[in-house]
Amino acid sequence: MKTKYLYINTIGCQMNVYDSESIARILLPLNYKETLSLEKADLIIVNTCAIREKAEQKVFSFLGRLSKLKRKKKGLIIAVGGCVAQQEGKKIFTRTPFVDLVFGTQSINRLPFLIKTVETKKERIVDIKLSEYMDEKKRYNYKNNGKATAFVTIMRGCDNYCTYCVVPYVRGQEISRNSEEILYEIKSLVDSGVKEITLLGQNVNSYGERHGVSSFSELLLRVNNIKGLLRIRFTTSHPKDISDDLVACFKNLSRLCKHIHLPAQSGSNQILKKMNRKYSKEEYIEKIDKLRGACPDIAITSDFIVGFPGETRADYAETLDLIKRVEYDNIFAFKYSDRPNAAAAAFLNKVSEEEKKERLKNLLNLQQHYTALKNQNYIGRTEAILVEGPSKKQNKSISEWTGRTSTNRIVNFACDEKILANELSANKLINVIIEKSFSNSLWGRVVFNNQKACHKGKKNYAA
Ligand code: SF4
Repeated sequence: MKTKYLYINTIGCQMNVYDSESIARILLPLNYKETLSLEKADLIIVNTCAIREKAEQKVFSFLGRLSKLKRKKKGLIIAVGGCVAQQEGKKIFTRTPFVDLVFGTQSINRLPFLIKTVETKKERIVDIKLSEYMDEKKRYNYKNNGKATAFVTIMRGCDNYCTYCVVPYVRGQEISRNSEEILYEIKSLVDSGVKEITLLGQNVNSYGERHGVSSFSELLLRVNNIKGLLRIRFTTSHPKDISDDLVACFKNLSRLCKHIHLPAQSGSNQILKKMNRKYSKEEYIEKIDKLRGACPDIAITSDFIVGFPGETRADYAETLDLIKRVEYDNIFAFKYSDRPNAAAAAFLNKVSEEEKKERLKNLLNLQQHYTALKNQNYIGRTEAILVEGPSKKQNKSISEWTGRTSTNRIVNFACDEKILANELSANKLINVIIEKSFSNSLWGRVVFNNQKACHKGKKNYAA
């Protein structure tokens, strides 16, 4: 069979990254091989995100660029998947008539059939059916693709209905995956060389609650016992579902990384209530204190929305106070935007764009101060890092590598490739003494157990 080429443009979160990897795997039997060239592609898939207006704009601006290509290349198939596809359905054909297939967030396992139908019948198809089950075995990843890290989905959807969020509408109700299947996927990945896995879900802390399979902390314990696995991460967490058992995991599970992403969204109780977040600022702080009690050097990151409808200057000041109180390691912050179906779109007292912009700028400036301070605190410390591969800013004259600390900080270092490969073959983390800190990363010097230093200064290394 002739090889065909597949180009995937992934917009959005880690769930979408994972889904795109599944898409590439599931289309292999149809002889689709991934390419980074749009011109070479026979099938272009846009895996979309609807969480913010800006992400959705990105989707349509990318699709706009494809119309010329579609006219030029006979037989080119263009498919739109993910959250915007789920949300808009066949309306996508009206806006972009050259699209052949619209498939929803739970249609990925049906993709081979859908693509085959488009190829043979030249029909346009919409498939956005949501399911109550999570029976998609064929899309999971049982083989390492050469990386040290991998994502593993443990649940889908969300039942929380935060008033600004589209996820319950585009990803459906919360469904937890069978724990035996999760463990089997992780063991297979570890056997093929993966050293760190990130458990994924919209709200991993409530894993199993709806279906009574096992609690999230029980699942973590079982994952922690998998031989050969060096690290476990998870994302995303809802503050209301952080149980004492989960807090204890940070103290008791040796492979669980010292990092939690705990979206606060606001520091004002009035706004948290309007957001339907189901916790108060005080309850949120209590959970943070418990986490730090169990694991004093845990890194805490968060998400914030500024300019939610009705957010006064006083509400905003409370959010700044929360950032000062918690001293986050890092945050993501966004301006509020109305989303289709989300309840807050109908809320009154919208904050002006100008005001939102100003609030976002000030909030990010405040956080930058804490991020820089926290990064500086690493200087002189020896950190165990998991090497992920060559550094993005690879210096041609020397080999530079990148990895992460348990606290999820990026660390770059120089090291001879052979020496490093030798060390990594023992399935180990590498010890790095941190020498410099930057706004988004650290620079360090590797020290192996036999005390051979693999780097002297930034430009040279020696064994
Ligand atoms: S918890 Fe809230 S913000 Fe997170 S996915 Fe569910 S509805 Fe959206």
